[in-house]
Amino acid sequence: MNVVCIGAGYVGSVTGTAFAAIGHQTTIIDIDQKKIERMNRGESPIYEPGMEQFLPALIGRNLFVTSSYDAVAEAQVVFIAVGTPSQEDGTADLRYIKLAAEHIGRALSKERFTVIVNKSTVPVGTSELVASLVEEASGLVADKDFTVVSNPEFLREGYALEDVFFPDRIVVGTVQPQGLQVMRELYHNLIERVGYDQLSELFPFSYHPQMPKATYFETDAKSAELIKYAANAFLAVKISYINEMARLCEVLGGNVRDIAEGMGLDTRIGKKFLQVSSGWSGSCFPKDTAELLATSQKYGSEMTVVKAAIESNERMHLHVVEKVVRKLQSLNGKRIGILGLTFKPDTDDARKTQASYIIQKLVELGASVRVHDPQGMAMFQSLNSHLKVTYCREPLETGTRSDAVILLTHWQEYQELDWEAMYPVMRRPYVLDTRNYLESARLTALGFCYEGLGLSTIS
Ligand code: NAD
Repeated sequence: MNVVCIGAGYVGSVTGTAFAAIGHQTTIIDIDQKKIERMNRGESPIYEPGMEQFLPALIGRNLFVTSSYDAVAEAQVVFIAVGTPSQEDGTADLRYIKLAAEHIGRALSKERFTVIVNKSTVPVGTSELVASLVEEASGLVADKDFTVVSNPEFLREGYALEDVFFPDRIVVGTVQPQGLQVMRELYHNLIERVGYDQLSELFPFSYHPQMPKATYFETDAKSAELIKYAANAFLAVKISYINEMARLCEVLGGNVRDIAEGMGLDTRIGKKFLQVSSGWSGSCFPKDTAELLATSQKYGSEMTVVKAAIESNERMHLHVVEKVVRKLQSLNGKRIGILGLTFKPDTDDARKTQASYIIQKLVELGASVRVHDPQGMAMFQSLNSHLKVTYCREPLETGTRSDAVILLTHWQEYQELDWEAMYPVMRRPYVLDTRNYLESARLTALGFCYEGLGLSTIS
């Protein structure tokens, strides 16, 4: 099929690459010239394991990247994968969606039926909004000359290629017959894994033909739009829940790691998303929970569970700061090292991470802060230019004459760090591990004062 993908970001670049890999003629369109140039050189516009293998194999063959919307006229399917950031009131900012819809409308062919697919995370009713904007710009009629389908994306950064090639579910929101038919055809090769044997050497993960197949789930557009928000908010609630459990353990005793494991053994609950942390963050959960809450309030049906999860999450960020204060007392003149600026490992995405909130508080309390991240420093710095911190090339440098080192992101590199070398450079050997990720017994044996979260059981 002939496919266009608007947006070469974390979702668009990976989705476009995957559709090209399974045999569709694919054009990715973006307004960012730097991303276009990078991709045309065969380089990934984002840090995502595996992209550097796929792009050189596809670029110029059946994957093209450009700023021109001309390819829309030839396309059977046009994905919209542009950003939908939060506005002040929490609702999603649809300006990029609207612009993309207008451009699509102007470029759309009158000769063929086109399926426009919302892959971006968008509020209920956005399919109708896009349809009306495309009608206005093209003079064509929705559901006669073109249709708009909702097909939310569930990929995880760091595992994006695995999630796109092996999704657990594909949600397609439309009741329009041509839309349904084109979407089934589009996803056929992906569900049936046509050509995967040849692709497998490019996968950054091991491929077994017996891996379970994706469930292809059809529903109406509004339900599909809401499924994405409902799923993300539910996961946020789950993390907030285990984080509150960790705080309770610190008061009552108990080990949150064992509690999470014991809970997760119940298949109704499951093990995932019960990992303690300084709180959920990143480019999706904060904006998606904010949008769901703001819209539910606007329409008089407040999602109080989501509201509580958001409040609990802010409390968790603060809890980390309070733990450091309890240990070091006044932070005036104290030096603190931070390991990890991204919301999770294996990504360079440093948008809206808990690190910025926690560092801001530490700086306000008088600490000087030294930070390191294997991939996220450049983005963090450009988004947080107001934060006066020292960026360290090597993780060990965060410990230089520091009174504390706080691990915020569980990059493997930090577990493998030469902690023996870290010990003598620190002024006070206090390590706060907000992911309960480091080898606590080893660190304690080296002489560190090690603290995790919710690990208060006294043996
Ligand atoms: P992003 O900011 O990384 O990428 C968006 C891209 O769209 C940018 O490269 C931007 O230049 C481009 N763009 C903006 N307006 C454009 C226009 N008019 N024409 C062409 N290109 C345009 O965003 P992202 O992280 O890829 O997220 C995209 C959407 O997918 C969001 O709604 C997000 O919530 C959703 N989503 C993201 C993830 C994730 O892990 N990042 C996962 C699932 C869903």
